[in-house]
Amino acid sequence: MAEWEPLQVGVMFWTGGVLGVDASPAEITAMVKSLGVSCGQLGVHGQADIGPDGSAAWKDALESSGIALNTVFAAFDGESYADIPTVEKTVGYIPANTRQEREHRTREISDFAHSLGVPGIAAHIGFVPEDHGDPGYIAVRGMMRRLCDYCSVHGQTFALETGQEPATVLREFISDVDRSNLKVNFDPANMILYGSGEPLAALDVVHPWLVSVHCKDGTWPKEEGAFGEETPLGEGDVGMADYVAKLKAVGYTGPLTIEREITGEAQRGDILRAIALLEQLRAA
Ligand code: MG
Repeated sequence: MAEWEPLQVGVMFWTGGVLGVDASPAEITAMVKSLGVSCGQLGVHGQADIGPDGSAAWKDALESSGIALNTVFAAFDGESYADIPTVEKTVGYIPANTRQEREHRTREISDFAHSLGVPGIAAHIGFVPEDHGDPGYIAVRGMMRRLCDYCSVHGQTFALETGQEPATVLREFISDVDRSNLKVNFDPANMILYGSGEPLAALDVVHPWLVSVHCKDGTWPKEEGAFGEETPLGEGDVGMADYVAKLKAVGYTGPLTIEREITGEAQRGDILRAIALLEQLRAA
């Protein structure tokens, strides 16, 4: 697997959808390459083939396009980001009715990432309860220990996506799980979109666990229970120049991975402008 330079600009792209509906791995990597980037994170949909055939196709597509992955991101069937109460009920490992099958799928994602030589996986775990005696909290903490141990056999990190809880809650959860390969994928826009706290202050709290980041932007929610609005990079409330400067200040050297969660030509245009902005900020 190819490597990346410090703060190399990359993109988040997906099996099948988002950058290419029903597209093959070769078509998707060609689209990524056409943006002018050569590193990124691969999001894996719940239905994606990550068995031997799927792995072989992705390995071939990534190698022939020269795209380096730093993370494989897990998404699961049944997840919905319609509004915050729906996220609580459907996303990640907190919902009890899907926990077991998602644990199984995450092990498969770890195997898939290992077959591609990728050093880490990541997921939204859902809203971590603040009460450490909550049965959901205890069950998910035990599950995270098992998953981290599984990833550790592959030499992988497991990164938790930020945003669904305040940074201090995430930090406490990480220290309570107590596994050295449990890390953070920092998404500054999510902190704003979920109303979970100022992103730069959150970075002060979680940067010792930082292994990867998203470069995404957005505006604060206008009412309780609603999301803020995702915007093109540089047009929201994150403050991209300050964000990149802060990443440099805390010693982050991984890729700057653009995430733009819309589809079609508008997404492509926004990503191209985001690349130009981040190249400037990276050099500043
Ligand atoms: Mg993100």
